[in-house]
Amino acid sequence: MIINRDTIIKAYEESEIGEYAIPHFNHSDFWDMSFIVEAANEKDAPVIVACLPRVAERYGLDKLTLMMNFYSKHSEVPIIYHLDHCHDVDFCKRAIDAGFHSVMIDAASLSLEENIKTVKEVVDYARPRGVFVESEIGQIKSAGEEGYTPVSFKATVDEAMKLVEESDVDSLAVSIGSEHGFYAHAPELDFELLKRIKEKIPVPLVLHGGSGIPAKDVKTAIKHGIRKVNVGTEIRHTYITSLNASISENGAGVHTIDLFEEARIATKAVLGSWIEIDGAAGKGRKTYEK
Ligand SMILES: [Zn+2]
Repeated sequence: MIINRDTIIKAYEESEIGEYAIPHFNHSDFWDMSFIVEAANEKDAPVIVACLPRVAERYGLDKLTLMMNFYSKHSEVPIIYHLDHCHDVDFCKRAIDAGFHSVMIDAASLSLEENIKTVKEVVDYARPRGVFVESEIGQIKSAGEEGYTPVSFKATVDEAMKLVEESDVDSLAVSIGSEHGFYAHAPELDFELLKRIKEKIPVPLVLHGGSGIPAKDVKTAIKHGIRKVNVGTEIRHTYITSLNASISENGAGVHTIDLFEEARIATKAVLGSWIEIDGAAGKGRKTYEK
């Protein structure tokens, strides 16, 4: 399946009609990348496979897009490759040139004017190259994550409108009370704010910090207009816990192919449950039927 901005917009249009969210999963290496693709195909779901800039830097943009384009081309469901939380315009441009289908330019820590200007620069570069762009409004806290953000503040409707109108960005991550990483206490999502933003914003809305949000709250957020749910921490935690248990059990003499087989099963179970929570199971092959 060929993925570009037009086909991503179509995938979001289908999610709007069907009232579900496209699952976004962060990967850290080539193993978990393959787990996500397998889970998407088995669950018949569209997915966004995402990496943080430091993952992209470690492996190399070209190597990653080579793998992902192979997976996208040979999958019967949309497999969209996305650069997550990139703060650097030039790195976004390099990812676009390397063949990423979608990039997030995260300039949410800047003033609104600077955020708009930065997002617009990436949009102007991405649009003629057929690449989709996500931006962020408000600020979503990250503890111990890349681009550490010590505090959250919520988006406002006026700021969200201004950013989307003036930058012409394709989708918007909204800070409505979620955070990155595991939560000390279950988060309180501001559904009233989400509803007000949804009424005014024509582009797909994104919920970051999915790990640890109760499934019922995720479903309520989707009902009120969220069209992508980002999950990273829970995937990584499951993956590493499984590897750790296998090594403890079998010792360091184990073949890595056996080690990763157990991790594959454990991680895919979590991925599958998120695909179900998002309501995306069974939607993959249908996405481009019409
Ligand atoms: Zn995020």
